[in-house]
Amino acid sequence: MEMRIGHGYDLHRLEASEKDGGLLKVGGVGVKCGLKAIAHSDGDAVMHALADALLSAIGEPDIGQLFPDTATENKNRDSAEFLVEAIERINLGGWAIGNVAITVICDQPKIGPHREQICENLRRYLVAPIHIKGKTCEGTDKSGAMEVHVVALVQRGNTHE
Ligand code: MG
Repeated sequence: MEMRIGHGYDLHRLEASEKDGGLLKVGGVGVKCGLKAIAHSDGDAVMHALADALLSAIGEPDIGQLFPDTATENKNRDSAEFLVEAIERINLGGWAIGNVAITVICDQPKIGPHREQICENLRRYLVAPIHIKGKTCEGTDKSGAMEVHVVALVQRGNTHE
């Protein structure tokens, strides 16, 4: 069996906003926190890092190359579409996702209370164990931003090899 690992990273500044009901998209879930991500797309850093982790595992171009922020069609775009594209490329290559581990670093919103809902939403796209945890910025100058790291394992071929 062939196995590969991928890593994805994303960072977006957050600013106070009551636009869209003060909902911030985290892994496709609208989290009410009075913040919005400063981004060209919908700014869902979890979706961005997750898509990049999967794409990097199979050696495909990253979402910055596939969905450039200079393209008007990507303005305010639903980032779930980036994840769908990554999963399509996984499937096309005959890969299966082993598991994904997501770390979200931000002071607000707190991830813990939304962990289950985010996992449940992501399971609509990928059938694999998903783990997500939240960490705080620990008083560093990254307070006011959301940073996300994702590690993904993919595999293909005979599981008995
Ligand atoms: Mg991003």
